[in-house]
Amino acid sequence: MRALVKAEAGPGLTLTQAPEPKPGPDEVKIRVLRAGLCGTDVHLYDWDPWAAATLRPPLITGHEFCGRVDSLGADVTGLAVGDLVSGEGHIVCGHCRNCRAGRRHMCINTVGIGVNRDGAFADYVVLPASNVWKQPDDLDPAVGALFDPFGNATHTALSFPMAGEDVLITGAGPIGVMATAIARHVGARFIVVTDLNETRLGLARAAGADLAIQPDQLRSAMPSLGMREGFDVGLEMSGAPPAVESMLATMNHGGRVAMLGLPSAPYAIDWGRLITHMITIKGIYGREMYDTWYAMSSMLQTSPPLRSALESVITHRFPAASYVEAFEAIRSGDCGKVILDWES
Ligand code: NAD
Ligand code: ZN
Repeated sequence: MRALVKAEAGPGLTLTQAPEPKPGPDEVKIRVLRAGLCGTDVHLYDWDPWAAATLRPPLITGHEFCGRVDSLGADVTGLAVGDLVSGEGHIVCGHCRNCRAGRRHMCINTVGIGVNRDGAFADYVVLPASNVWKQPDDLDPAVGALFDPFGNATHTALSFPMAGEDVLITGAGPIGVMATAIARHVGARFIVVTDLNETRLGLARAAGADLAIQPDQLRSAMPSLGMREGFDVGLEMSGAPPAVESMLATMNHGGRVAMLGLPSAPYAIDWGRLITHMITIKGIYGREMYDTWYAMSSMLQTSPPLRSALESVITHRFPAASYVEAFEAIRSGDCGKVILDWES
């Protein structure tokens, strides 16, 4: 089969032939139709210090995907050949304290497909059956491939109640844009999104933001909405320390902040403000297994605006063979989600 492989330690990826994976008794072999590019894939491509410390070549990359079940291990039930499926790319151990307590997303031994074991930038990928998420048969497989980052957006956005609340989202990458649509769906009052990139601010407006603005406009823009106090809920989706600073500076007393964006290095924050304003901060990793997945499917089923926001966050589609152009598109920043087509 074709596979986009980190063949050896160092920058770059190679589209090459690899043996087809064989499912174990509890596993499912999936024919990949579409796969999404994520910032993680860019780190792996570039072989930055995190990548060098994390990935052991040779390894097939990619973790955001949608495909059809090709074959099933002997012990798998509840799935059938031909089912359209997405996959939870975090594979948990099943025996640590959190796994045993049913908090699988907090497993201390999580293994990631496309990072620690072979991934989905290939014609076929194998996953434990418990990680496979059945999709409606008529779902666009490119939207199915969004369920990993859509899950990050959902996990973050549903962390705190939002009905009637004023919400600040810092970072209008694909995840910030999807979180904007979720905040609208669950009934936020005002949604303000900040980013430095005008293309991405446009995507946030299309997804339902009341204001999508440059970070330095934040304070002056709040009165234009009639906001006199501060934001009730903050979703940090940039990983940029200045964005965190601006968020903490504009939260109301008692505000709640969910942090998804990953910074590249440790940084200082104004702890005095956090303490005296009684702000709650929650770190977010991955998706809740599998509450987030139920929430995603349920929201999509009943919300045409959410569905169209997901469709329009996909700005680029490339055949798998054009992966170099696909990585150029994501690096440019003038994009939403970039999708690789493994069917063509
Ligand atoms: P992205 O890199 O595409 O988007 C981040 C956006 O933040 C960019 O558009 C950038 O212009 C913007 N930004 C930079 N500085 C800013 C500032 N000062 N104020 C406002 N915006 C600013 O990322 P994405 O794929 O949308 O993911 C969002 C973040 O979440 C990234 O940091 C990513 O690494 C992280 N992430 C975390 C998890 C997790 O499990 N915790 C999972 C996936 C992604
Ligand atoms: Zn575990």
